[in-house]
Amino acid sequence: MAKKGAKITQTHIRGTSYHSIKLHLKQVFQSVYRHELETKLSQKPWKQKIANIPDWPRRKAVPELRLCVRHDRSGTRLHRIAIRPDPYCMLCSLRKPTDRNHLGQCTALFNRTECERYWEARTKMMENKLTLFLLYYYLLRLLLIIRILIFTLNVSFLVYL
Ligand SMILES: [Zn+2]
Repeated sequence: MAKKGAKITQTHIRGTSYHSIKLHLKQVFQSVYRHELETKLSQKPWKQKIANIPDWPRRKAVPELRLCVRHDRSGTRLHRIAIRPDPYCMLCSLRKPTDRNHLGQCTALFNRTECERYWEARTKMMENKLTLFLLYYYLLRLLLIIRILIFTLNVSFLVYL
């Protein structure tokens, strides 16, 4: 029996390993994703503009990139992603949609260059948020003090009865 078995030519049946299948699927998905991404990016109007952004320092390059791709904290974008009810500027009373054009015209900003105005607007918007937060905080503290006073008055009133 062993002699008979030894005469049979053995074929190596090697299945594809789990690692190879995983690697192959990963490459296929990455290729499909990359193709879809390139298709979507080719339709964006800012694709060519961001390629032309020079290698500036971060403080200057970040506003340029954010304003190019319109991924800033302007009222227009915040309205587009449903955070603000209107696209108008939060800093001035011009009632104009906040975008790159308005950044140069906003009456609440005093710096000269677009980059400096971008950072100034961003700082002022954060200060406005902080002011609202502090106002809300002090209002809550005032309400708490009033409740404590009312409770104390009620207790002292009951003691006298
Ligand atoms: Zn403004």
